[in-house]
Amino acid sequence: MSDRFIFTRYRTDCYHCKQNADQIIKAVPNQAQVACENCGATRVFVPRSEDVDAAGLLTKIGKYPVWELVEEATCRNCHTTGPHDLIVSSRHLTVRCRNCKFTHFYKFDLEYLAKDELKFG
Ligand SMILES: [Zn+2]
Ligand SMILES: [Zn+2]
Repeated sequence: MSDRFIFTRYRTDCYHCKQNADQIIKAVPNQAQVACENCGATRVFVPRSEDVDAAGLLTKIGKYPVWELVEEATCRNCHTTGPHDLIVSSRHLTVRCRNCKFTHFYKFDLEYLAKDELKFG
């Protein structure tokens, strides 16, 4: 994927295997994924809207802790490379440019285990 936008990792307790493991976060304009490096549990998020500026409010709902990260990325709107607020909850994932406030808003779509998928590959 040459269109990589956000690629980072965040170490925390995995919601699936309960281990403290790196969670690999990848976001491109048409999809975002969070994958556990330990057990392979992967959550896929799909874009819901790109102009929701109150997205942060929606991310506070959920039974898992919300991860609030800051990542360097190139904004697809203002084309500035700088800090973006990356917020991941169990149901939503948002990436917001601090320069122009342009927000990518993704909602949870599905979940799978990467190890299971290998059986079909
Ligand atoms: Zn895990
Ligand atoms: Zn921007």
